[in-house]
Amino acid sequence: MISIASPIVESEEIKAVNDVLESGMLAQGPKTAQLEEDWAKYCGTKYALAVNSGTAAIHSALYAAGVREGDEVITTPYSFIATINPILMLGARPILVDIYPATFNIDVTKIEAAVTSKTKAIVPVDLYGQPCEWDELRAVADKHNLMIIEDACQAIGADYKGKKAGALGDLGCFSLYATKNIMCGEGGIVTTNSDEQAAAIRSFRQHGMVAPYEYAELGYNYRMSDLHAAIAVEQLKKVDNFTVRRQHVASELNKALNDIKGVQLPSVAPDRSHVYHQYTVVLTDDASVSRDEFVAGLRERGVGAGIYYPKPLHVYPHIAKLGYKVGDFPVAEDLAARVVSLPVHPKVSDEDVITIAKAVKEVLTNG
Ligand SMILES: *Cc1c(COP(=O)(O)O)cnc(C)c1O
Repeated sequence: MISIASPIVESEEIKAVNDVLESGMLAQGPKTAQLEEDWAKYCGTKYALAVNSGTAAIHSALYAAGVREGDEVITTPYSFIATINPILMLGARPILVDIYPATFNIDVTKIEAAVTSKTKAIVPVDLYGQPCEWDELRAVADKHNLMIIEDACQAIGADYKGKKAGALGDLGCFSLYATKNIMCGEGGIVTTNSDEQAAAIRSFRQHGMVAPYEYAELGYNYRMSDLHAAIAVEQLKKVDNFTVRRQHVASELNKALNDIKGVQLPSVAPDRSHVYHQYTVVLTDDASVSRDEFVAGLRERGVGAGIYYPKPLHVYPHIAKLGYKVGDFPVAEDLAARVVSLPVHPKVSDEDVITIAKAVKEVLTNG
């Protein structure tokens, strides 16, 4: 089976973990500090702060942006649940805005209508590894004095007009979960250029501590361990190589699937690079099979397809109860019913690409 995701662990990662184990300093320490320095340099931001998940990163970033109880935060209904849950964790209200059908990213032209006097921030997601419409996002945020928290959890290494994902909003959030483009099992990073925001995140990830045993506010234990940081330091050195390979596989898939009826292939909007966390096709109306049949057919032929995401976020009970219903976000709802992601990670070989393309063709022509 060609799997949909496969973490790459080599001798460097194993040695790095062993070194930390032997050092006796396992919690947040020098490896975490090194990761933060390397990550900030890579993204071109003043700070990178390590935490223990992407969810913790988004929670910490929203907190540092000043989001509090009763505030409204504009985001997308088409993402992983971890984009939206931290908004609720702060007692704020997610205000959802539909997406563009071509890029799966938030439709910036619909944001202004969602702004109220309570709006504090926007959380755009660079979904599947493709940056959003950042010039337009910045313009609408500046006009209404809103903070932008970039959910770049799928977009490490992507850029927009030469600026790296993570440096495009006021704060950027990353995940180092096992299936992400680079990983350490579980982990997260927040990037920012602001001294105040960096200080707020340092405190928030450590019980609200501002000086030894001085707790200024409620905080959490969101610290990253040096065991995890050691893996992430090695992975960050490899990220550009991984990205080149993902882009190569995507371009080979584009060529091989170009003339097949029934699927729309991913597209890249101008002025940006796509790092293909996912290579996601959309089944079109003229497809000869249902999505379930398509996915089952691919699996029978040894291709591990995935569905990201089977439902838009507003249909889950804890979001729906805020007043959302089916029909509110037609683009997101339609795509959630049609998308299929094909394997694109660096371990997918050129031979695998042929297998994937052959399987797609067979299933769509024979049913
Ligand atoms: C992975 C991911 C997150 C964070 O997930 P964690 O599992 O908490 O690291 C957030 N948003 C998006 C879009 C993601 O893909």
